[in-house]
Amino acid sequence: MKCRHRVLLLPLVVILALALVAPASLAQQRRLVTIASGWVVGVYYPLAGAMSRIVYKVKDLNLRATVESSGASVANAQLIGTGDADFALLQNDIAFYAYNGVTLGAFKDKPIKNMGAIFTIYPELIHVVVTKASGVRSVGDLKGKKVVLGPQGSGTEANALQILEAYGVKEGALGKAERIDAAAAADQLKDGRVDAAFFTTGMGSAVIVDSFISGKVALVPVIGGEAQALVKKYPFYTSVKVPANTYKDQAEATTVAVMAMMVARSDLPEDLVYRFTKAIFDDLKQFHAAHSAAQNLTLETAMNGNPIPLHPGAARFYKEKGVLK
Ligand code: GLU
Repeated sequence: MKCRHRVLLLPLVVILALALVAPASLAQQRRLVTIASGWVVGVYYPLAGAMSRIVYKVKDLNLRATVESSGASVANAQLIGTGDADFALLQNDIAFYAYNGVTLGAFKDKPIKNMGAIFTIYPELIHVVVTKASGVRSVGDLKGKKVVLGPQGSGTEANALQILEAYGVKEGALGKAERIDAAAAADQLKDGRVDAAFFTTGMGSAVIVDSFISGKVALVPVIGGEAQALVKKYPFYTSVKVPANTYKDQAEATTVAVMAMMVARSDLPEDLVYRFTKAIFDDLKQFHAAHSAAQNLTLETAMNGNPIPLHPGAARFYKEKGVLK
């Protein structure tokens, strides 16, 4: 009899104990969010990694952010649109086209409205990298050449097509137009399998550093009347100089650039995005350490070049800091 009681009591004790423990362990469970980034050999990916580590350290934020690599900007806007990503890095030109459903086939009549800005970060230069052997000196010389326009789903591809258009080069006039990932593009440049490749990425991006180490490539400028026409038609472009030897033995060149920015799904709770934004600005040192391009993020410049409405959580943070009225 005594024994039977004990047997019955034991599960009850276990259940009671679990009931006491469960709420505490549930509270400790971190909310999982995803950050859509970009090329493993680019700048978005290491930056997203840094943000993930920064927010993980903030105990009361209770977040665990996983970083997804992707073709980048266009794909990332679409991932936000479908709710498959919570945060994303993308170019400001692409953010504008996506939000307003204009300019690019991917967004025309399919605007992505559920996207709110957090901050803009650094200029992304359109690096037009050519093999020295190709003899290409200007974008106009790309006619008949084998050219990588960018990865599938990238902002790079959109920039490549707009720049070619400004120089009067139709895609059909290229010897071959490829859409392959950035690391593969660098390999093909080094092997001479392609003559040129476009990369819209931060200054000092690993994929460009790596291409120049081969000693076989050069930068082609985007300047003059063509660049002016480009900026007139697509006002997100600005002119940026790449100082000599930014990459191994590279001659000074001027090209055009857009801005990298961070966005979140608009329906993410205001408080979550507020605390996410605060966590990054509270630990700018670690953010800046992620990549030389990341050093451009400051509170004062965080809204420069932002073409879409701020996420309410980010807006709350900027108001609190007095940088937004
Ligand atoms: N801006 C690039 C794109 O959308 C991605 C750059 C990167 O990953 O650093 O094509």
